[in-house]
Amino acid sequence: MNVQTDKLCTVLLSVALAACAAGGTRVPGDALVIRNGTVIDGTGRAPIADGVLVIQGDRIVAVGEAADFEIPQSATVLDAGGGSILPGIINSHTHSTDVAAVRRAFLTDGVTTVCNVGTSLAQLPGFDETSAPEARAARGYWAGPIITVPGGYPGTVYGFQFNYEVATPEEARAAVADLVDRGASMIKITLAPGDPRDPWPILDLEQVQAIVEEAHVRGVPVRAHVFEPFLVEDIVLPAGVDAIEHSPFPILSPEEETSVLEHEDPPTQLFDVVAPEFEVLLARVVEQGVVMVPTLDQNIGNLFKKSDRSPIEQIVVDVHVEAVRRFHVLGGTIAVGNDYGAIPGVELGMPLTEMRLLLAAGLTPLEVIEAGTRNAAFVCGQGEALGTLEPGKLADVIIVDGDPTTDLEAVDRVVAVIKGGEIAHSEN
Ligand SMILES: [Zn+2]
Repeated sequence: MNVQTDKLCTVLLSVALAACAAGGTRVPGDALVIRNGTVIDGTGRAPIADGVLVIQGDRIVAVGEAADFEIPQSATVLDAGGGSILPGIINSHTHSTDVAAVRRAFLTDGVTTVCNVGTSLAQLPGFDETSAPEARAARGYWAGPIITVPGGYPGTVYGFQFNYEVATPEEARAAVADLVDRGASMIKITLAPGDPRDPWPILDLEQVQAIVEEAHVRGVPVRAHVFEPFLVEDIVLPAGVDAIEHSPFPILSPEEETSVLEHEDPPTQLFDVVAPEFEVLLARVVEQGVVMVPTLDQNIGNLFKKSDRSPIEQIVVDVHVEAVRRFHVLGGTIAVGNDYGAIPGVELGMPLTEMRLLLAAGLTPLEVIEAGTRNAAFVCGQGEALGTLEPGKLADVIIVDGDPTTDLEAVDRVVAVIKGGEIAHSEN
């Protein structure tokens, strides 16, 4: 038995689902086996050129090189046709996904999970997967109403049914406990003062610390809607928040804004000359391991898709992309989430605009895939269950035509979608 097979045996035995024989890894007779494709497992590891993925029930039980597997006649075999086999894509920042038909459209496109970071309490029954029509819809995880202070955002803009209002650290802890008891997989907070001349009230450090402590005791991440760098510095970092939603941005005086707009290289003028302290802050965000969910599609997707951008629109696109590029260069962890449902024009289905923008920000195609699988699962509180093709994980898998590690557009050529070990959609 060679070393590689031995390793596979260890993995298989550890989940007690198969036995190993000399010369190959025996696959359970009732397995679903996907073969004849390149396995991209979502961990960031190098792809396996002629790979095999073995699924039993709703779980992945083995993954490896084809040569190491003995596939029994009784197994169900799915031929990937020389394409690529990767984890189902996860859109970690959405709204309006309590509706089964919306999640069905996501699933058909290869997005096997969507995470909803803002609903009313009344919308929560929409995430119930036990009723039959929901089975063929993307998994939906939710944060529920957003924890904020009385009269705070998002109620000020979207309606107060989306607020879970707390006025003290004790109420903040109780809010987290209540939401997790109801089934929340993550906690969403907002730090949005709005117009500085007439600001909305926001959570203070003590309240956010209480939220984070309670959430972490209960094993769920805390995600903060925040744009202002001073709030990242004063609250997000000291409180130990897990993820920043949207991308923070330097606040400029009118004179500084003019100097950026009139410069021949606006991103360089902005980040290196006008606001060099912004990059220092990004480095601290990276050092603390806070994940960024830039939601670039919501921020600039409509401009990015325009073929006739005005000079000012081009600057807006460039500086947003540059902020994410710098975060990535510093070693920051990024998750895919496009803010579907927040504004018109943000993509339903494969979040291709978000992924293209991350590519423009300097991520490699493999890093973009990792951002849309493993990292997205983590911010949704599902890092143990979803996001990579590893034994023990739920078998949410897509087969695409082509190699997305060299041509990211291949993620949009979905041939088959497997959710929980069942073929949920097939083009053939
Ligand atoms: Zn949002």
